[in-house]
Amino acid sequence: MKHCIITGSNRGIGLELTRAYLDRPDWHIHACCRAPEKADDLRQLVTNHLGRVTLHKADVTDQASLDAMAGRLEGQAIDLLINNAGIMGGDRQSIDDMDYDAWSHVFAVNSMAPMRVVQSLLPNLKAAARETDGAKIVTISSQLGALSYQSKGRYAYRSSKAAVNMVMKLMAADLKPENIACILFHPGWVQTDMGGVEADITPQDSARQMADVIDRLTLEDTGSFLNWTGDPHDW
Ligand code: NAP
Repeated sequence: MKHCIITGSNRGIGLELTRAYLDRPDWHIHACCRAPEKADDLRQLVTNHLGRVTLHKADVTDQASLDAMAGRLEGQAIDLLINNAGIMGGDRQSIDDMDYDAWSHVFAVNSMAPMRVVQSLLPNLKAAARETDGAKIVTISSQLGALSYQSKGRYAYRSSKAAVNMVMKLMAADLKPENIACILFHPGWVQTDMGGVEADITPQDSARQMADVIDRLTLEDTGSFLNWTGDPHDW
């Protein structure tokens, strides 16, 4: 059995990524969310797929909660980590009006937490990388973090995704010798609470296509920024 861990798995893209890996019979999914007791869809998946999903309570900005999760997972090889949890950060992020406290929190969730989660689970990822043909770290970024993407506003969100792109580039270089690949995705404009109902694609389409791409990734791809379709994304 291969093991993957997905943050923010209680709704949106994270929930559909969980479903996409449940469709792969050789995967066990460690589904992380802040409030498992309220995560009805996830709890239903646990019931419907006995022994395939483990729920973990984890706030990705809270080191103590990540340490506790890492403690529960001690000795468990993790083949795939998906850093999916993310926030937009509210409306006050324009040239005229910036909420600086909110901006700090967006950085904590979108830019720093993926590093926190990786550091917490590095022994697990290294164990998988030693035992198999390699482990993978996938981080869900956004086209809004690409410096090449021409548009306005959303200073906090866009700068946080640009920052996590750099974090993952650095990590790709550090972890390549460990046989761990680090990949960034733009998941599309997706119909979730964040993307809204007008968005282009469903979370099911986004998640299933990304999972198909992730299946094919190798260490040669490390440091890439990809669309949900697998095509390269401009930086
Ligand atoms: P969403 O429906 O708003 O879901 C966000 C998820 O992140 C929720 O599960 C939420 O949990 C979790 N989360 C937020 N803060 C957290 C924290 N501190 N600790 C743990 N979990 C936390 O958004 P989505 O559209 O699925 O987005 C998923 C990822 O895709 C994000 O990184 C987002 O930036 C990226 N993305 C989305 C789009 C789009 O069009 N939707 C486009 C580009 C990139 P709670 O339920 O507890 O709040």
